[in-house]
Amino acid sequence: MQQYFADQPLESGGTYELTPEQAHHAGTVLRMDGETIRLVYDGQGYFAVVHRAGRKMTAEVIGIDPVSKELPLDITLAMALIRREKLELVLQKAAELGVSRIILFESSRCVVHARNERIDRQLERWRTILQEASEQCKRDRIPELTGIVPFEKLAAMKRGTGLLAYEKAGLEAARLSTVPLAEACTVVIGPEGGFAAEEAERLLQAGFITVSLGRRILRAETAAIYAGSVLAERAESGAE
Ligand code: SAH
Repeated sequence: MQQYFADQPLESGGTYELTPEQAHHAGTVLRMDGETIRLVYDGQGYFAVVHRAGRKMTAEVIGIDPVSKELPLDITLAMALIRREKLELVLQKAAELGVSRIILFESSRCVVHARNERIDRQLERWRTILQEASEQCKRDRIPELTGIVPFEKLAAMKRGTGLLAYEKAGLEAARLSTVPLAEACTVVIGPEGGFAAEEAERLLQAGFITVSLGRRILRAETAAIYAGSVLAERAESGAE
């Protein structure tokens, strides 16, 4: 079933006019008329039937979807800036896996640096990726994307249990599958070059727990997707 995020409040029995982009997609690309779609506003899903009305498309809201598609765990992914295609892959997968918030940060071993003059355009593009991935996987919320912060600001942005995925953690470190979690957690993934020892130390002093993602060193994008998957499975299976 096609899903769109509505730009106005919805109510059962009411109607919603699709935005021009949504109308183009539903009407011109998918040639819909009479189909049931899912509309979401402010975290609540609704079922609606779309109708063609000239070049416009309207949807008749027929009822709420009682099933929430969100994880019962608030996950923040703090992701180092990595090469663009890989970062975009991570954003898309994080949205699919149910992450609530993404913080992008720049640390000492990042090979990619934020270029001020392009940040606004990039953030806009990244938010579109998050929205499209959230629609495609039928989430009720689009992950929040903060701007790019320097590493020094990261610790103060922690929500819930702070988890530092540290490539030098060693096997005695906690495992992501069993580390005790509050109702929220913030997992930090480093850049291609990993973390400097002082950076790891700084997060540990701020109360983060070091976690290992296994014996092999994963690429940053693999580490992010792996961490998101393990946390989502813990939340979905009701282990919390
Ligand atoms: N260049 C570094 C590896 C960086 S991997 C080196 O050779 O040591 C990129 C990021 O993925 C790391 O900073 C860490 O956050 C995460 N990561 C990768 N493998 C990991 C593992 N086995 N345990 C914990 N974190 C890992």
